[in-house]
Amino acid sequence: MSDTDPKRTRLTMPEYAMALAHVASLRSEDPYRKVGAVAIDFDNRVIGTAYNGLAPGYNASPEFWHDRDDRRKYMLHAEVNLCSLFTRGNVKLVACTTKPCTSCMQMLCAYGVREVYYRDDYPESEADAIAHRYSIQLVRLTDYPRIIAGFEAG
Ligand SMILES: [Zn+2]
Repeated sequence: MSDTDPKRTRLTMPEYAMALAHVASLRSEDPYRKVGAVAIDFDNRVIGTAYNGLAPGYNASPEFWHDRDDRRKYMLHAEVNLCSLFTRGNVKLVACTTKPCTSCMQMLCAYGVREVYYRDDYPESEADAIAHRYSIQLVRLTDYPRIIAGFEAG
């Protein structure tokens, strides 16, 4: 049974990571863009989940969210928060609900991540060039929503 067989009964590791990343994204306090990320180690164990948001312990006033451009510099990206959970070389793959931005792709590279999966495109990102240059697998899970829907339908 292949990964594309509609009757299969088990998620692949990238799909499993993406499903968890999706749930993590729901926890984001950012009303404009909710991003989740998950790291999996070489024994297929979940190292951690993360989402984009403000620094831990900081409580923003409701007005903080009114200016979308001004708040951008304060938002810690999901991948930044994720990389605070592991050390270099301990992670096999990372799944992000949105393609990593340029600086997050650089950081995943610095942490030795060799496989990165994403769901939503982020055209402004130069992640593709970085991944290509450093021979990192950067793969979009295009059929991810359909796969999960199929499992939910039983
Ligand atoms: Zn980023």
